Amino acid sequence: MQLGEFGLIEVLRKALGEADPDLLIGMGDDAAVVRCPEALAVCSDTMVAGRHFFADVAASDLAWKALAVNLSDLAAMGATPRWALLNLSLPAGHGEDWGRWVDEFIAGWRAMALPWGLRLIGGDTVATDGPLTITVVLLGAQRPAPMRRDAARPGQGIWVSGSLGDAAAALDIARSRRGLPARRPQGLSAEAEDALEQRRLRPSPRVALGEAAAGCGVGCAQDISDGFLADLGHILQASGVGARVDVDALPVSSALRPALGEDWSAWQRWPLTGGDDYELILCTAPELEQALLDIGRATDTPLTRVGEIVPASAGIELRWRGHVQQVEGHGGHEHVF
Ligand code: ADP
Ligand code: MG
Repeated sequence: MQLGEFGLIEVLRKALGEADPDLLIGMGDDAAVVRCPEALAVCSDTMVAGRHFFADVAASDLAWKALAVNLSDLAAMGATPRWALLNLSLPAGHGEDWGRWVDEFIAGWRAMALPWGLRLIGGDTVATDGPLTITVVLLGAQRPAPMRRDAARPGQGIWVSGSLGDAAAALDIARSRRGLPARRPQGLSAEAEDALEQRRLRPSPRVALGEAAAGCGVGCAQDISDGFLADLGHILQASGVGARVDVDALPVSSALRPALGEDWSAWQRWPLTGGDDYELILCTAPELEQALLDIGRATDTPLTRVGEIVPASAGIELRWRGHVQQVEGHGGHEHVF
């Protein structure tokens, strides 16, 4: 079935336009209208075919990830997800069956959105001569004070959720399978490679952790999208501080560990500078560390202390296997125009 713009919007509205007591006008009018008694956190992220994802990725995985990367931004603020806008730019003139595509997209969207009570309230749908492009805007209730990048202070511990480097290693595997320039991680079983690929395609945003951490007074957080060093660098720059990081303490998954071993360049490439993990960096004073650990347990989120904030310095001091190295820049992902 070929779907036109209005048919497609109708399919989305039926599947995802659920009622909500604070949603006064949902999909179908010129604008959605919501009631928001508290502060709103608002964020947006765009994914472009060929740049952020391979053109053959399943629509369900795309929907999951388009939502997950935005949910991760809300998590980093400590906000509670409420409403979503979805802008779809679908390539025209390809004879594509967008009807089936949108059904798969809806399945992936529901899998990520429903557990957080996130409602689709509007968006835009256009045909384009360019690549498939998906933009999501999220609105979240900001009940606790937001966690900010500029709130790191000397003496605070640096904590990381989950594990680092899986998505970047999976991207190298996917690229090498496609004959693209990459460094393929060595020594991994097929099961380990699959586990990494799942982390790349379907990241788990740390929403519950973010809400709870902000709720108990953690003041500084940032999600890891560009790479641990780059995103820690953003905190340091915004806060005017430096950091010491114990690379030996960085959490890595059992799937990735065999590819790291004693190879510094592998540690650098995946856990330290690889992007797309959507874990959180949290900086917090020693008095709150026990509370943070309790939150990790309550939200089933592994949390690891990987270093500490120090007074303004040349940047980040890395310790690894007894060696010390100073990092000036950060070396994560940055778009170049
Ligand atoms: P307008 O011309 O006023 O911008 P549209 O025809 O673009 O209206 O959209 C009609 C309704 O459908 C609007 O309420 C809009 O928010 C919603 N909508 C359009 N595309 C999407 C989408 N991809 N996801 C969710 N809602 C959408
Ligand atoms: Mg429109």
